[in-house]
Amino acid sequence: MELYTSASIGIALASSGSATPNELLQDADTAMYRAKQQGKNRYQLFSSGMRIQVNSQLQIEVDLQRAIANQEFSLVYQPILSLSTQTLVGFEALLRWEHPVRGLVSPAEFIPVAEEAGLMIPIDWWVLASACQQMADWRKAYAAADLTINVNISAKQFLQTDFCEKVSQVIEETGLPPSHLKLEITEGVIINNATHISKRLNHLKELGIKLAIDDFGTGYSSLSYLYSFPLDVLKVDYSFVSRMDQENGLAIVRTIVTLGHNLQMAVVAEGVETETQKQYLLEMGCEFAQGYLFSRPLKPEDVSQLFTMDSQSTHVSPTQNFILPMGAPV
Ligand code: C2E
Ligand code: MG
Ligand code: MG
Repeated sequence: MELYTSASIGIALASSGSATPNELLQDADTAMYRAKQQGKNRYQLFSSGMRIQVNSQLQIEVDLQRAIANQEFSLVYQPILSLSTQTLVGFEALLRWEHPVRGLVSPAEFIPVAEEAGLMIPIDWWVLASACQQMADWRKAYAAADLTINVNISAKQFLQTDFCEKVSQVIEETGLPPSHLKLEITEGVIINNATHISKRLNHLKELGIKLAIDDFGTGYSSLSYLYSFPLDVLKVDYSFVSRMDQENGLAIVRTIVTLGHNLQMAVVAEGVETETQKQYLLEMGCEFAQGYLFSRPLKPEDVSQLFTMDSQSTHVSPTQNFILPMGAPV
């Protein structure tokens, strides 16, 4: 058999600040990994900036290990609203890490490191179980019967062979009716693994769980997968919503909304920040929205307060004319 190989090369110069031969090799190794990250089959020259980045990633990794044991993670819940009635329909659970020294660390910063280090899977399962338990508790304690909980699922978690069994187990243990759980997956999960995925998504549907495609339009979209998978909800990414007032921005969002509707999916606009965006979305028939215009992600105690504020109300949905204190960013 004829084999083809490629090489990724890391180059470090003795003048780049390494004190020992071992450090020099380490630097070359760091540069080689950078060459691989950049698409392989290339060379990369080491620079001291890489050392800082590697050190800070390593530090996050060490801190993450400790964070799991010390229970430094928590969840916040961002309201999702019906645009036409301005009533609450559910929440998206979002992960937060309260670092003992650095304070709040953004998921955008630590999730990629945690994924790389293989730490994200246990965190993801913790998120799913906690969010389902929280929604089950709210349903019992308050008039929150109709609300659903959205949980983000990472690619690695979704690809675990016993994923569906584990989800069933969480549902059983928490007592949350499966129709009140929506799993958010991204395009990457679907496209990269199309053959396995179809079976798995159908299995989840059979369990009664709803499925949403998150950050739609930001991955390498292939429209054909949208036809073949049983998706219930399409979430229009913040990057499109925020550009609705620019040339062609509006047309793109309108096209995505129409696409979702034609495929019998409900559409949620993410990151709605202005009244103008809300009006445009209403006009194009987008059903649901979440964003700072309505509410930032809330701590569980603030959500509970929201329910008690409205406990006298006869509405099943806890809020009419949904107005929330903006609160501190969480
Ligand atoms: P996402 O799932 O698309 O979540 C929406 C993000 O948009 C959240 O950022 C939310 O706080 C932010 N957002 C909401 N409204 C607005 C707005 O009006 N303007 C702006 N600029 N942003 C808004 P967050 O919480 O930082 O999460 C970032 C990403 O991290 C999430 O994107 C999701 O991909 C990931 N993530 C968060 N929690 C989890 C989790 O528990 N598990 C997994 N696997 N991923 C998670
Ligand atoms: Mg999401
Ligand atoms: Mg999103």
